[in-house]
Amino acid sequence: APADRYAVVGNPIQHSKSPFIHTQFARQTGQIICYEAILAPLDTFRATVDAFRQSGGKGMNITVPFKLEAYTLATNLTERAASAQAVNTFRFEKDGAILGDNTDGAGLVRDIETNLGVPLQNKRLLLLGAGGAAHGVILPLLQKQPAQLTIANRTVGKAQQLARQFADYGRIDTGHFLDFAGEHFDILIHATSAGLQNELPPLPAGIFTDVLLAYDMLYRPQLTPFLQSAQNGGARQVADGTGMLVEQAAESFLLWRGIRPETPAIIQQIRQMQSHVS
Ligand code: NDP
Repeated sequence: APADRYAVVGNPIQHSKSPFIHTQFARQTGQIICYEAILAPLDTFRATVDAFRQSGGKGMNITVPFKLEAYTLATNLTERAASAQAVNTFRFEKDGAILGDNTDGAGLVRDIETNLGVPLQNKRLLLLGAGGAAHGVILPLLQKQPAQLTIANRTVGKAQQLARQFADYGRIDTGHFLDFAGEHFDILIHATSAGLQNELPPLPAGIFTDVLLAYDMLYRPQLTPFLQSAQNGGARQVADGTGMLVEQAAESFLLWRGIRPETPAIIQQIRQMQSHVS
């Protein structure tokens, strides 16, 4: 039989590491698949998905800026995708249905708990940012029963909207970054896009003192501005988003193939590749 086909769709897409990651997963688990990267022009997401499915595609990953459109295109949703209102994984079913899932949050939780060894239960969590990345991680974080989940965002209204959207799952406190001066959190998770411009949201002095883990969803060859501040400010452990990237891919692979790949060696490989980027 020919290899089952999968793809990641986004715009831009040329720097995506997903084809590398899934090819390694397939090799390791003995699954016969091929996985490509597809650049979709901004107004042709639906047509791009339809064409891939018609040509025999079995599933897709969806990345920036199509996660919200993917949510509307799915005909069935997992609970974590429905609550996030964002989809990063499609599985094309035999009857024509499109199952939409969101594996970003499960990937983050697994990276923090399993790879970094920091349990989330009973911890005070501060999530910085209320965009697409934040949406995807809230339900999996709440399901770990933290002592507290606070969302800080530049536009406070968007954090409040998220608190309402997830009210059935747990209490979420909200505010602006500087509202939390003098408060202590155990784990800080940075999910704004400020780092893409090498910037940093304004953070209260002392916010990193005795923090167990400062996590930046961004992945960069060099230490991000957020993680630099965290280190200088006294955070005990810092981590970038490479582990989350590989773990969300592993969750998608599990949904498609029914087998969970081993991730540590691949996370290591990607970190090494990044350190050779000049
Ligand atoms: P969005 O555009 O959906 O959201 C942007 C967020 O950043 C908003 O909360 C916005 O605030 C805030 N923001 C932007 N610029 C600034 C600034 N200068 N100062 C303060 N806040 C700012 O982006 P995403 O949520 O999709 O992506 C966020 C980050 O997460 C990216 O760096 C992305 O690479 C990363 N990511 C990593 C993943 C992984 O697997 N490791 C997965 C998904 C994302 P406001 O609401 O006020 O506009």
